[in-house]
Amino acid sequence: MTDTRFACTGCGKCCNDHHVPLTLSEARQWAADGGTVIVLVEAFLENGYGVPAVHLEHARRRSVLISSGKTTAYIAITFAAYNSGPCHNLRADDLCGIYERRPLVCRIYPMEINPHIPLRPAAKDCPPNAWEEGPELIVGSHLVDLELKELIERSRQADSEDIDAKETICALLGIRTTALKGDGFATYLPDMQAFAEAARQVCEERVKVGGVGDWGFELSGEAVTLQMLSEGARTVQGGVGNYTFIPLQRVD
Ligand code: SF4
Ligand code: SF4
Repeated sequence: MTDTRFACTGCGKCCNDHHVPLTLSEARQWAADGGTVIVLVEAFLENGYGVPAVHLEHARRRSVLISSGKTTAYIAITFAAYNSGPCHNLRADDLCGIYERRPLVCRIYPMEINPHIPLRPAAKDCPPNAWEEGPELIVGSHLVDLELKELIERSRQADSEDIDAKETICALLGIRTTALKGDGFATYLPDMQAFAEAARQVCEERVKVGGVGDWGFELSGEAVTLQMLSEGARTVQGGVGNYTFIPLQRVD
């Protein structure tokens, strides 16, 4: 990778049409502020099916083991700010209305949180001049901005620490359909009052839900369905509430 400089121009483009991943406490705050949270669910089998071997460590770190039919899988659950069009915090002058308490991922953009995804300026919303000036961001293949490094580590840490609570919140909301990692995303737009209440119960009353039925996989096609059935997974179509399955082109 070539050395990269970066200076945010404040154009506000990244605050439009981006679902911003949130930590659990950020998601609660987002809901309390009147925002909408989208829930994105994907899983891979405990034996590694669904995720390239080099990505396993990172993928496991942000996942929890669940059951599906006769098999077990690692599930990752993302709560994200649902921004269709401009974020509701984006002001008319294109600046953030909650700048001092904006979510971690807003502070990290345009860097990637996943260590297996290299930063590709062309794939980002930032205008060309944002990459022509400012302090050095990447030298060789190393991120040299120490503050950013610390924010990325905090984000990864939160992913790991929040996952059990997120899985319980999903159980309380009846969310039990997942996609297979790399094959698609299972997405839900829960009722925000129900979401806030489930999150409150889990975070404040330490409610834990065990043995409420296992997860089912919605899959993109016949071949992957046959493969997952042969692995012992339970397959389903559809999910609770405002649910959408987004198929992806398989890459592995
Ligand atoms: S919270 Fe602020 S920085 Fe984050 S997407 Fe919304 S307007 Fe942009
Ligand atoms: S798109 Fe890039 S340059 Fe524009 S506000 Fe977002 S981070 Fe800054």
